Amino acid sequence: RVKEQGKNNFRFYTPDMNEAVSKKMKLEFGLRKGLERDEFKVYYQPQVDVTSGRVIGVEALIRWQHPEWGNIPPADFIPLAEETGLIIPIGEWILYEACRQNKCWQNQGYPPLRMAVNISSRQFQQSNLVETVSKTLKRTGLDPQYLDLELTESIIQDSKYAVSTMQKLKSMGIHLSIDDFGTGYSSLSYLKLFPIDSLKIDRSFTSNIFTDSKDAALVHTIIIMAHNLDLKVIAEGVETQEQLRFLQESKCNEAQGYLFSRPVIAGEMSAILTKQYDKMYK
Ligand code: C2E
Ligand code: MG
Ligand code: MG
Ligand code: MG
Repeated sequence: RVKEQGKNNFRFYTPDMNEAVSKKMKLEFGLRKGLERDEFKVYYQPQVDVTSGRVIGVEALIRWQHPEWGNIPPADFIPLAEETGLIIPIGEWILYEACRQNKCWQNQGYPPLRMAVNISSRQFQQSNLVETVSKTLKRTGLDPQYLDLELTESIIQDSKYAVSTMQKLKSMGIHLSIDDFGTGYSSLSYLKLFPIDSLKIDRSFTSNIFTDSKDAALVHTIIIMAHNLDLKVIAEGVETQEQLRFLQESKCNEAQGYLFSRPVIAGEMSAILTKQYDKMYK
């Protein structure tokens, strides 16, 4: 089928595209149902202090287990959730769940951790974001200093709005991070405008430290730049002892990756924390 769109512009709709559209509709329907049917779970991945080796934070990562389709990775549904706006209820749910779980660990007597929650650009643009976050902290009783919001460079579309929203969150005492640092196309000047606390070096740099000397140089340089701006640095995707050593030598503050643990369910995370706690007091 050919559809005319103005004088010289033709769009071709092929059966392939119809298939893609119906696949997308199916996925969207699945997302709605998934919310109703409680198919989403939160997994937690430790964030480790590079010097002491201790877990000082965790990142909440969403998982979707569909009864027929099986496990669907976030990369396959978060973009559609953003597009359809479903990221709003999903994001509110995971924020609540992550804060609740963090408070629960504190109530159980574990040393307090910072809980990192990914905030998509669509969520960040919501005018009631600050209110939602503030309500969630109140409802769960979590102290704002133990919440870390991970924002990506894509939120910088409107930098005035971004700065004022970040300032509000910051003034509540919440920790702010830039996720996937170095992969966006934004200018560095936002680093002096944004009231952020840390940068997360993207896994694409970390994983190539020993295969690409330019990536090693970038990681090293990002850390120095961040420190000169009074920002902490966390490296994501750390898988080997050698990568960790490089990061230690480069004075990176924190690390996260399979070397320490894959993302795990809350119960397994408790076990990791218990083991660490036992070691500390032995
Ligand atoms: P991200 O926030 O950059 O999260 C890090 C991703 O790297 C996670 O993938 C994590 O499982 C993976 N990872 C961690 N360490 C390693 C490692 O050592 N090696 C390798 N190969 N991978 C590692 P995941 O869970 O599949 O999430 C992918 C992306 O989906 C996230 O990237 C984030 O952008 C998005 N996402 C996940 N959960 C949420 C959520 O609750 N809300 C929003 N808005 N986005 C989310
Ligand atoms: Mg993240
Ligand atoms: Mg990341
Ligand atoms: Mg990443």
